[in-house]
Amino acid sequence: MDIKIGRQNSHKTFFFKCSNCNGSYTHTLPHFIEKELPKLVDVEPQRLKNSFRRGNLKFYDSQGINAIQFRKKVGEIESGTMICLGDEIDIIRGFPKIRRTLMLSPTLKQHFTKDVAVEEKMNGYNVRIALVNNRIVAFTRGGYICPYTTRKAPQIMDMADFFKENPQLVICGEMIGTENPYVTHHYPEVGSLGFRIFDLREKTSNKPMNVLDKRGTLERYDLPSVRLFGIYDVDEVPSQVENIVKDLNKTEREGVVMKDPEMQLSPLKYTSSRAHAEELEYAFSYPFDFGRQFFFSRVIREGFQAYETGESCEELKKRAQRIGESILYPMLATIKNVSKDEVAGEDLTIYVDSYEEAAEFVRHLRDLGVVATVHDFQDGKAVIRRIHQSTTDKINNYLRGGLY
Ligand code: ATP
Ligand code: MG
Repeated sequence: MDIKIGRQNSHKTFFFKCSNCNGSYTHTLPHFIEKELPKLVDVEPQRLKNSFRRGNLKFYDSQGINAIQFRKKVGEIESGTMICLGDEIDIIRGFPKIRRTLMLSPTLKQHFTKDVAVEEKMNGYNVRIALVNNRIVAFTRGGYICPYTTRKAPQIMDMADFFKENPQLVICGEMIGTENPYVTHHYPEVGSLGFRIFDLREKTSNKPMNVLDKRGTLERYDLPSVRLFGIYDVDEVPSQVENIVKDLNKTEREGVVMKDPEMQLSPLKYTSSRAHAEELEYAFSYPFDFGRQFFFSRVIREGFQAYETGESCEELKKRAQRIGESILYPMLATIKNVSKDEVAGEDLTIYVDSYEEAAEFVRHLRDLGVVATVHDFQDGKAVIRRIHQSTTDKINNYLRGGLY
């Protein structure tokens, strides 16, 4: 099916050249959702129609790409899925949610059958890179095309040969490092900005390549992969993971993702105590901009990990102190700042070729609902100020005598 897109009035009007209409009709977006989309994804027309009505399916028009964006999961189709329209239709499925285990034993034995591949979990932001209309495009978690990531990814790694020979594959990986506008974490081997690939998946079906073929393929194209600690028998995997995560904790690294080597079963994640503390610290810097579930979940992880590792009194005390400090200190710092008439905000540094690129990135953040401005720009170094408005407003209110 060949779809051209035009606009009429405020409607997005599609011009189909499909079996039904031979290009002689125009269709509005609701018509497309109800009649054509069910031919592309395995979901009943009525469900798609309802999702569209509720605003969970949106027309997307940015960075020169028109698409239908799945803002929420519909049937088996993950949130973040993009149906990219053009000379050809490219379906880039959302990256599936990875469930967490709070206990290594007995959960891993119950979930996996024989062997388990243990990969490092990198702490950055999720990116899917694919060829769309013959262009290499980078999507972030919700299916947004990020102009910064789209520009930076090809500078970090050369994907030309890979996509020439595998145009049907999607590279799924984590953008990491300190020059990172979404999730900053220092990795000594990466420094400012780097990319690590954890999955290769097929467009349309989202079928992942098995762990060993994936590693072989990445090696062949000289593309950077996440670390594989090993493939272990399911009986020994709990103790192996406990030790691996203990080591990762020492170097302030996030944790592991455990995968069926054949990628038939869904992966599981397990993270280090320091990773929990780091996230609490960040969230309690802007406590009124995060949902309460965010805090609760991190504390619960600590409870089960402390139970399972059966650590000494001294180690337990350190853990308790770490949690407490990661809650109280950042919150106090923010209250102090706001009391001095500052806003609760953070500065992110990115390197760009022009002021316009920085401004474009800020516009992209605003599309995501983030309040941000270009605070400073000099010699390609752009400081983006992100403002946490609820935290600023609420703290101001309480400092002036408002009741909680
Ligand atoms: P979600 O599971 O919806 O992404 P989340 O934002 O809380 O929720 P995380 O807790 O960071 O996500 O865990 C899942 C994410 O971990 C993946 O989406 C992916 O971006 C990242 N990740 C890092 N390393 C790996 C890896 N080796 N394999 C799979 N995912 C990885
Ligand atoms: Mg993450």
